[in-house]
This record gives sequence, structure tokens and C-alpha cells, in this order.
Amino acid sequence: MTITAVKKSVTLGVGRSSDVPNVAPYRFQQGDFNLTILSDGYFSLPGTVFAPEASLVERADVVARLGFSNDTIRSRANIPVITIGDEVILVDVGAGQKYEPTEGLLAGNLAAQGIDPASVTRVLFTHGHPDHIWGTLTENGDLRFPNATYYMGATEWNFWMDPDFRTSMPTVLHDFALGAQRDLMAVKERMVMLQPGDEILSGIVALDTAGHTPGHLSFEVAGDEGLIITADAATSHVISFEHPSWRFGYDMLSDLAIKNRQTLLERAAAEKLKLLGYHWAYPGVGFAERKGTAFQFAPAH
Ligand SMILES: [Zn+2]
Repeated sequence: MTITAVKKSVTLGVGRSSDVPNVAPYRFQQGDFNLTILSDGYFSLPGTVFAPEASLVERADVVARLGFSNDTIRSRANIPVITIGDEVILVDVGAGQKYEPTEGLLAGNLAAQGIDPASVTRVLFTHGHPDHIWGTLTENGDLRFPNATYYMGATEWNFWMDPDFRTSMPTVLHDFALGAQRDLMAVKERMVMLQPGDEILSGIVALDTAGHTPGHLSFEVAGDEGLIITADAATSHVISFEHPSWRFGYDMLSDLAIKNRQTLLERAAAEKLKLLGYHWAYPGVGFAERKGTAFQFAPAH
């Protein structure tokens, strides 16, 4: 990265803040794939969302070890850009300028890397939450990645596109559904519906991690030790690992989320798979290691 590019990133971030210092982003190779982890910023959540069932003492402990002291956890947004040959693949697109003011940094960070949005060939959506898909459109309402093919689990698509969402979903989800319908309708003609196990291209496969949302997918990338882009199957590199059976406040189907989180972490620990977490401390890349009946996160960097 050149100094000019760094300054450009700062300029584009004016008025918005990022927890990620303006240094060269974290990159690594996974088999034949090159990955660059870019940040979309962060949003803040109380510890009670991350650990609603914890005692006060337990919650204070995990929040402190996440690096926060005021019961406000900064939940980062780590977005991988995967390149191979002529392919430029994004997994989720962040929140754009539509959700929290501390998010929406992806566009500037792509520009800082010299990545033209028009060069993005595929966008894989893990699920339909605002911090993952509300960056689909620019402020003008155009597709931010106009040449991409989009992918999402069919179950997830059907959940958010329900025309009767005002009666089928609790009121608290209505704004999320309206935002999801705005963005998903805009890419409808470019959308490929996925089933768990589907291969997007050689070496990238959709993995069923439903529970956070009804059709949540993670993505498995072949090569070397193997990599799973977990997204929100595990939302904290401390809490999800050390207490995988604790409910996360924003999981829609808690029991299923807990089951799939434990299965994912057990497999990752047994097979020594590399993991990428969307909301973990930047860049959110590391391994699950067994610790007693649970796990601990071992950063890869
Ligand atoms: Zn999320």
C-alpha cells in the first residue's frame, strides 16, 4: 500500500471512526486463494447481548478480556476479499452508510487497496442482517458491485423476502426486513440461491451454520489447513469459544445456533482448521483449541 492510498482511506473515513489502524491490511494465502481482510468498521453492543445468561462477574470478566471496561463491546466487521485468477470475491459487504455511523468503511478500504468495485466478480452473503448486506447499494441507490453474481442461502432469502413479514416477524425485525428486501430485490436477477454443501466455485463450499438466522451460511475455503469463514456462527473470539453453549442475544434460533456453533468449533479444533470471524478483533483470523469442555481462540497473526 502506498502512502497516498493510506491518506485516501483516511479522507474517505472522515466523520466516521474505525478501530483498525491505517496500516497495511492483514493478508494471507489459503491454498491457491489470496485473502485480504478489510474492515467495515464496528458497532457497539452491550455485554448483555453477547452474554445474556452470564452472571455479572462472568460478564465483567469476558468483557474485560475483550478489551472493554464499560460493558460496551465494539463488534468489528472483518470482510475478506478473496482473489484467485480473475476472480475477486467478497464475503458480505458491510453496512454501507445505512446502519451505524461507525460502519461503512469497506468502500474506502477497497479503494485504498486499488480494488475497483466493478472488478468484484462474486459476492457471497452469509445472512441478511444489516451489518452484512446493507452495503449492497451506494448512497445513490446503485449497485456498489455492479458486475458481481450474488449468492445467498435459499432459506435465508425466503425468510427475509417474506411478503407477510409484518405479521410473521416480531416488530423489532421489521426495519431489518425492509432493508433486506431493498437490497435483495436490487440483486434479484443476479442472485444464485444456495443449499448447504453447494460449491460456489472450485474450492469454496457453503456450510450450514443456521441459528443466528434461519438460513445462515458459513463458507469453507480449501487449501493448506483449510479455512472456514464463520461469519456470525461465532460472534466473539472470547465468549463464543469459551462459552459456546451460552445464548447470543441476537441469535434468532438459539438452540440451533448453539448446536451448530459447537459442531463448528469441535470440527475446527479437531482438524486444526483456520477460522475467520466477522465480528472478532481485527483481523479475526485464528484457530480453535480445545480447553476443557470448551475452546480458546489462538490468533494466527
Ligand atoms: Zn453480524
